[in-house]
Amino acid sequence: MDLTIENVSKTYPNGVEALKNVSLKIPTGMFGLLGPNGAGKSSLMRTIATLQNPDTGALVFGNINILKDQEDLRKTLGYLPQEFGVYPKISAIDLLDYLATLKGITDPKERKERVLSFLNLTNLSAHKDKSVNTYSGGMKQRFGIAQALIAQPKLLIVDEPTAGLDPEERLRFYNILSEIGSDVTVILSTHIVSDVADLCQNFAIINEGRVLVQTTPKEGLAEIEGKIWSITIEKKNVPEIESKYKVINTRYTMGMIAVKVFSDHCPEGFTESIPTLEDYYFSHIKGYLK
Ligand code: ADP
Repeated sequence: MDLTIENVSKTYPNGVEALKNVSLKIPTGMFGLLGPNGAGKSSLMRTIATLQNPDTGALVFGNINILKDQEDLRKTLGYLPQEFGVYPKISAIDLLDYLATLKGITDPKERKERVLSFLNLTNLSAHKDKSVNTYSGGMKQRFGIAQALIAQPKLLIVDEPTAGLDPEERLRFYNILSEIGSDVTVILSTHIVSDVADLCQNFAIINEGRVLVQTTPKEGLAEIEGKIWSITIEKKNVPEIESKYKVINTRYTMGMIAVKVFSDHCPEGFTESIPTLEDYYFSHIKGYLK
């Protein structure tokens, strides 16, 4: 089902304009919401999840008017927030059973089956009798996914899911997300470009409360094809390059600095670089692409 967000704006009581006229059309499948810290991603996620109201605008999921029919949306929503806070000191299996009850899975037999099956899906069966408080970051995230999925939502929101995970835990998390049914609309909010490159069919870039672009990884890469150039120089020459060109990023390589720039033509001394989604992202964030 599609999620349509139209002209959503939000100013907090302290005067921060967190969302400025945000409009997005999010189809079924994995959708990435990419932006730096403070861009407004969590504000938008919380609005979609009915945890806060916008000042203006409309949000519709399938035929559910999210602002009016909050209960209907909640029944079909799975939400994995950035922070869960403290878990009660009960076993993971009992906690998941309790959360499943809250989500309306009242039949004990069905609930037990689902609890065991989601612990299995998230690779937590061996740790089901331990308290979630004792879990590693990756295990907590997987438990978060189990609770978000247990009522079989049609809309799943995951906010910054891989921040703080080591590469192996991240891969495991990706695998679970990629096993979610193809009829679910999944919104993955992140500042990690590779999460989007690896998982999402569609994505948007948001910065300072505004949507800069909505596209697909393929189209994004095509847009900057032939526009990304690199050069490896000594550190002392970096300021000169920065003053002359639209620098995307700089990184150390074997004691030198590799600089990538955005340009319609090949700058002297540079070589063409195969574009990455990260180049596309920074080209937008730095205002080189309109
Ligand atoms: P992101 O999730 O992309 O990091 P947020 O939505 O958390 O962005 O924040 C967007 C902006 O709104 C930031 O400037 C943040 O400080 C501010 N903000 C977020 N929540 C609140 C709040 N409850 N009250 C006041 N300002 C907030």
